[in-house]
Amino acid sequence: CGIVGILGAGPVADQIVEALKRLEYRGYDSAGIATLEGDGALDRRRAPGKLKNLEVRLSNAPLRGAIGIGHTRWATHGKPNETNAHPHASERVAIVHNGIIENFRELRDELAAQGHVFATETDSEVVAHLVTAELDAGKAPKDAVAAALPRLHGAFALAFLFAGEPDLLIGARRGAPLAMGYGDGEMYLGSDGLALAPFTDEVSYLEEGDWMVLTRHSVEFYDESDRRVSRPKQKSLASA
Ligand code: GLU
Repeated sequence: CGIVGILGAGPVADQIVEALKRLEYRGYDSAGIATLEGDGALDRRRAPGKLKNLEVRLSNAPLRGAIGIGHTRWATHGKPNETNAHPHASERVAIVHNGIIENFRELRDELAAQGHVFATETDSEVVAHLVTAELDAGKAPKDAVAAALPRLHGAFALAFLFAGEPDLLIGARRGAPLAMGYGDGEMYLGSDGLALAPFTDEVSYLEEGDWMVLTRHSVEFYDESDRRVSRPKQKSLASA
């Protein structure tokens, strides 16, 4: 299982699939990607089984966005079908998650009581609704994520893509690895440097509890107390 995110100079769907292929060795049962399409609206394609199935969906109904996130899923909560495949999304945010949200039932009950309608059997879907609730309350994307992360118990690598925000990806890690990669007017995130090797050999790794805000020309790292921190730029050992 793995996650990928790309802020690109042109359409990113093919690159996301390429990066996901480099994470296949971890095992997975389904896959999906989300991008920002016309007018900054979220769109996604998902498929159970091999990445080939996702590629068929994409060739039948292409995604052309220049920013996106992708996921290979190893199901822990909910059957490995299309509905439960990531990304999970509201109108405002799409998320990919590796790991387990241990307190998802409490969060789901709380959010359902506020009117959120859940579409999947996964633990991960609560993350999308939680961030949506913060956005609905008027928070900016970065502040919405900062408010949501402390409410999650368990292990995660997460990536967030926001409707109407064509130059913004947010990533977070706790108990699961996450790296970001530096490009030339592009920026990447992924479960490891190997996934990003086709695009860059300059990477930084998040430390436990860190989260980050990426644009095409900048990265900001925060620790789990939301303090701005720096994380060293390294040469990725993986070669393209
Ligand atoms: N717990 C999540 C799910 O079952 C994520 C699984 C994963 O790490 O891929 O959908």
